Amino acid sequence: MSEAGRPPAGSNPPADASAPVDGSGTARARCVLAPNPGPMTLNGTNTWLIAEPGSAVAMVVDPGPDDQAHLGRVRDLAAAAGQRISRILLTHGHLDHSAGAARLAALTGAPVMAADPALRRGPGAGSTADGAAGGGLGPGDVLTEAGCELRVVASPGHTADSVCLLLPADRALLTGDTVLGRGTTVIAEDGSLADYLATLDRLRALADQQQLGTLLPGHGPLLADPATVLDFYISHRRERLAEIRAALAAGDRSGEEIVARVYADVDRSLWPFARWSVRAQLDYLGSRGELPPGVSP
Ligand SMILES: [Zn+2]
Repeated sequence: MSEAGRPPAGSNPPADASAPVDGSGTARARCVLAPNPGPMTLNGTNTWLIAEPGSAVAMVVDPGPDDQAHLGRVRDLAAAAGQRISRILLTHGHLDHSAGAARLAALTGAPVMAADPALRRGPGAGSTADGAAGGGLGPGDVLTEAGCELRVVASPGHTADSVCLLLPADRALLTGDTVLGRGTTVIAEDGSLADYLATLDRLRALADQQQLGTLLPGHGPLLADPATVLDFYISHRRERLAEIRAALAAGDRSGEEIVARVYADVDRSLWPFARWSVRAQLDYLGSRGELPPGVSP
């Protein structure tokens, strides 16, 4: 989900906002855009079909909302390419990514794999040890399916259960909500800014190692310059932290006061989401011993 309504601090890296999202992708990854646009979901949720061209099966990453027409379209697009959906993978449990998993599993018979055991379905759903054989997506797990290899890159921060999926054959990374095609992401209630900063550094290192040519986000257009985007995300977080430190220095002592100051230019209907972000930043500063007395996140 997007850090809605507020332009990111600093200069946003170039993303071609006019490029169609639906149908975009790489040689082995194709976006099927779900019809759920909104301030938190940008154009809608990107569902990804992953397969080696000519493979008889395909994997789905993030079925999206429980929308019968969308899920039918995902299945039909795979079928038109001669592919049966054999696995359903979730980048994280937020409903705009996961709510359609049960229906798509019922439509296709494919198991659902996720980092969070509660979201897994089908054969191996109880397994936690071996992601390839069971329903888990553990750090470093390698999945070979549909003629493709997908590597699980743990990416906690946006949520505790977030993962990215590396498609080495295309030097592409499916980022879920960890990196978005436009703007920046929020730290959700169960997320952690310390984890998120470590995740951004981990992804930046992958870009340094020339493993990333394209980011395939959970919302918004694909991103062709991962290193620039990740540098922007990292500096954006540092600038946001500087704003919180400044608000504390100005005397703010509650999350509400800080939101009212820092998000003054944002529609109030989005302030509840801003509260998550501020709370995550106060937790982070608290863990570093940087909070003045009397602050209530
Ligand atoms: Zn999302």
